[in-house]
Amino acid sequence: MKYRISNIKISVSVPDQNKEITRKIKSKISGDINLYNLVIYKRSIDAREKKNIMYVYTIDFETKKPIKNYQKLGLAIPDEYEYIYPEKGKKKLLNSPIVCGFGPSGIFSALMLAENGYNPIIIERGKKILERKEDIKNFWSQGILNTESNIQFGEGGAGAFSDGKLTTQTKNPRSRKVLEVFVENGAPEEILYDSKPHIGTDLLRNVIISIREKIESLGGTFLFDSKVEEILTDENNILQGVIVNGEKIETQVMIIAPGNSSRDTFEMLCKKGVHMTSKPFAVGLRIEHLQDDVNESQYGEMREYLGAADYKLTFNGNKRSLYTFCMCPGGYVINGASEEDTVVTNGMSYHSRKGENANSAILVNINPEDFGGYDNVLAGIEFQRNLEKLAFKHGGSNYKAPVQLAGDFLKDKVSIELGTVKPTIRPGYKFVNFNDFLPSFISETIKEGLINFSGKMKAFQDENAVLTGIETRSSSPVRIVRKDGESTNIAGLFPSGEGAGYAGGIMSAAVDGIVSAEEVIKRYFI
Ligand SMILES: Cc1cc2nc3c(=O)[nH]c(=O)nc-3n(C[C@H](O)[C@H](O)[C@H](O)COP(=O)(O)OP(=O)(O)OC[C@H]3O[C@@H](n4cnc5c(N)ncnc54)[C@H](O)[C@@H]3O)c2cc1C
Repeated sequence: MKYRISNIKISVSVPDQNKEITRKIKSKISGDINLYNLVIYKRSIDAREKKNIMYVYTIDFETKKPIKNYQKLGLAIPDEYEYIYPEKGKKKLLNSPIVCGFGPSGIFSALMLAENGYNPIIIERGKKILERKEDIKNFWSQGILNTESNIQFGEGGAGAFSDGKLTTQTKNPRSRKVLEVFVENGAPEEILYDSKPHIGTDLLRNVIISIREKIESLGGTFLFDSKVEEILTDENNILQGVIVNGEKIETQVMIIAPGNSSRDTFEMLCKKGVHMTSKPFAVGLRIEHLQDDVNESQYGEMREYLGAADYKLTFNGNKRSLYTFCMCPGGYVINGASEEDTVVTNGMSYHSRKGENANSAILVNINPEDFGGYDNVLAGIEFQRNLEKLAFKHGGSNYKAPVQLAGDFLKDKVSIELGTVKPTIRPGYKFVNFNDFLPSFISETIKEGLINFSGKMKAFQDENAVLTGIETRSSSPVRIVRKDGESTNIAGLFPSGEGAGYAGGIMSAAVDGIVSAEEVIKRYFI
């Protein structure tokens, strides 16, 4: 018989957690019952009492004989999750469906279509991940930007050089499918049960290559260095094909998952008259602290038993809010520009999270009213771009990033030397006063928020914390309008993922990729 037991709490200082788990379960169910196939179903950390931090487990196990009155003992029969594909639709596809973009959303759309025999063609404007890695290395070491192969564009999408956090707000059951695919392709098993799963950019890259090879083995075709430049429709607005690097490819179906940085693609779609709106997004700075200070704030003396700590903070001001986003424990602030003469920050970490610093974006919400309203579809992009250009200029016009100590930012003065925290951004940085060029509603909200955070978490009291700018690409400034997965005015076009405005983060983009593939499968057969 299979059972599930929740709320098994064990101090993080206990060295043999598995032995203690078995002991605790046995003491709960009493009697002389042997337990088999113990599997951790969920693990989280309860750090409310800093002197007594606990792992909290949910465990699945089996017994040979049924346990009497198992419910009274706090046991349950586990629900087994199995992903089931939808039934194929009735419309015949004359050509392979296209998946535009091979980020998390495109990856999972392509995989689902390939597994169901649809032989998708995947079109990705950037390069394969190992070549892309070289372009990024050149950018970070010498300031040579390749606008088609960078942190935003290329195999794996925007998340490939990330922290690989797989946390998600979504309770969508497809999340389990996503995690299982990652594990089948080389991700560590603990992502299946950790409450804050994380892969790290080093492991994530190999996982992506493995999934690409799987798609190829199932009949998928990849075109890298290939950009969808135009969509072709008939007089009834039914998709007929696309122009890729100047050549026509016929198709009746395209899942378009372009990510939030493909500005020329948004312009092309807008020009074509595809229904789109602008949407709220957020901008701000990255903040770096010493990781050990964050560990101390979060775990106190018990930090020696735990890995690098994270945090999540929110400040609700009168008009705006400031919130931490994409916190990267033991990580690096990275330069994620995709357009010339711009600086764009983001965060990345390796699986070990052993970097000296912790970083996080601190973001202020921006509404369409701030830049021209919901109907002014591309105005949000221009708002982002202007800030990125200002960051470039103030950083010295050479892709070095503007930097200021948090204490100096609050005192409104340019920093002149670093304290204990060293900025990790490459190819380098220049001291500035962000108050001189950020719109005041942004800088004032960051100031108020930082003061508020310093009352919530000791690490935020450090005046030597480093601010780096500017963070503009945390979410998409546009939405490509869809109904039941399909564009509301172009038949056969399926907008998907973060860039289309339906996801935020690796997990939700991947889940949306599955949803988009399901919508195609439900309508068509090949
Ligand atoms: C540095 C960094 C760190 C991050 N860290 C995390 C994290 O730890 N956890 C998390 O959940 N999220 C993280 N994110 C966000 C996450 O990466 C995105 O939410 C996610 O990648 C969105 O997936 P997507 O498939 O919708 O788009 P993307 O990943 O952006 O992929 C879109 C792809 O489409 C391609 N493309 C665009 N236009 C065209 C075109 N016209 N023709 C052909 N190809 C095209 C692009 O080259 C790109 O590869 C991070 C992002 C960055 C940049």
